[in-house]
Amino acid sequence: PVPSPVFSAAAASAGEVKTAPNPLTGEIARRRTFAIISHPDAGKTTLTERILRAGGAIQMAGNVRAKGERRRTRSDWMSIERDRGISVVTSVMTFNYGGCVFNLLDTPGHEDFSEDTYRTLTAVDCAVMVIDAAKGIEARTRKLFEICRLRDIPILTFINKMDREAQDCFALLDEIAEGLALDVSPATWPVGRAARFVGTYDLRTKTLHTTEELPPDDPRLAEMEEECQLASAALPEFDQESFDAGHLTPVFFGSAMKEIGVTDLLDALVAFGPPPRAQKTETREVRADEEPVTALVFKIQANMDPNHRDRMAFARVCSGRLTRGMRLKHVRIGKQFALHTPQFFFAQDRQLVEEAFGGDVVGIPNHGTLRIGDTLTEGEELRFTGVPHFAPEILRRVRLDDAMKAKKLRQALVELAEEGVVQLFRPQDGAPPIVGVVGTLQLDVLQSRLKAEYNVPVGFDSTPYTLARWVTGDPAALEKFTALNRTAMADDLDGDPVFLASSGFMMARAAETNPDLAFHDIKQIG
Ligand code: GDP
Repeated sequence: PVPSPVFSAAAASAGEVKTAPNPLTGEIARRRTFAIISHPDAGKTTLTERILRAGGAIQMAGNVRAKGERRRTRSDWMSIERDRGISVVTSVMTFNYGGCVFNLLDTPGHEDFSEDTYRTLTAVDCAVMVIDAAKGIEARTRKLFEICRLRDIPILTFINKMDREAQDCFALLDEIAEGLALDVSPATWPVGRAARFVGTYDLRTKTLHTTEELPPDDPRLAEMEEECQLASAALPEFDQESFDAGHLTPVFFGSAMKEIGVTDLLDALVAFGPPPRAQKTETREVRADEEPVTALVFKIQANMDPNHRDRMAFARVCSGRLTRGMRLKHVRIGKQFALHTPQFFFAQDRQLVEEAFGGDVVGIPNHGTLRIGDTLTEGEELRFTGVPHFAPEILRRVRLDDAMKAKKLRQALVELAEEGVVQLFRPQDGAPPIVGVVGTLQLDVLQSRLKAEYNVPVGFDSTPYTLARWVTGDPAALEKFTALNRTAMADDLDGDPVFLASSGFMMARAAETNPDLAFHDIKQIG
């Protein structure tokens, strides 16, 4: 047999270990899993549409328009939220472009749903940050960026709305560099501005992409060339390592509306990735090219079909080759779990998954067995980390007007809490359940869904509590503390004890007088 070049004598003599070529390498190398982050109105929805269109996932622009992102007003949001079909189909969108398989994960725009966004960002390998060329960096952009930075998620920047009056490009680049303490490296440069914006020059491939043919003496070209020279002299070149580490962002200029610059962005994602990164567990990091299948559930969407009460768990495949019909170990409950109908989601429909690889996001229908933060493996005792619960800042007692529905309410609250709509705390003294949220819009969603999906109308009453903390520590000390504070103790969804305090002062005192206990404002789940 002819030796394959992989096992070349040179490599062997250099002391390298001979290993069979990894069959997963090729598939993983062409996976791109990302989210788009932005301040409302910067153009995330429009860019999403254009990206999907470029990927052939939708035929016409306008299809994503109705999705759960645009409704900033309450009534708008609620009506969309009721229309489960639309908002669900867009929580992940899979499409092909340039030989790569893209998974675009949607993140809710409203800050009241930041926990959901945080969880989703656990499942991506990079993020596209959309900035309005006239407004620069806005509050929510900054916040989302900080979340990405905490996790070293590489960022690509898309400066949108270049077809309108915009800030000076150098000023914008400066603002990003200074404001976010990030190296900026222009990947493209705009040709023309505002109404005369016709396209981009790709500094990487040295190609011009314009919507109309420009004569060589068009002043816009001369201007672009001059500015590109300035930019190259003043700003760092693209550096893969620095990008991968989240220290440098390549910047693209464009107009989502006019479809300028969109393929620059996708081409760059194809060219420099990043491919699926290693995912952290409690014990070790799992690389995407490891053969055994592992997956992490980061989102649950219930009642997609209200007639069936089914639930879709969205899982990121972290390693291996996942196939339909496979049986995986559900680590939290220690049981086998069969993947009968894993699904891929496209902009308009879904399709059964025959095989999926590291980086892919699949939907797994189930009846409540899978929860946010759950790990699936081929047997290894692994638990992925990085999917947190934040201590809620708003605590309300659920008021039920129809006492006959108490049992139904309990069940519904558990289901919606498992989905991550709210956090549920059951007081240990048997008092009615307390729900905790980060933003009040979550309460509106809870109320509307309890009515629409479970036919349980509820109201909310205030509680004396303003803070919740998970309590851990010496069992005897915990027992004593619990006995002394019975009315302020509750169990969360997993049965973990939570201390509710009426003020920061009370919380501080509890911590001070109980040195054997720890009070946490973040709980890692999974
Ligand atoms: P989102 O809130 O970030 O999802 O933003 P949208 O995509 O809904 O866009 C907000 C508004 O900006 C809409 O009226 C869009 O039509 C408009 N818009 C989006 N992209 C562009 C663009 O490239 N140029 C111009 N002029 N308007 C845009």
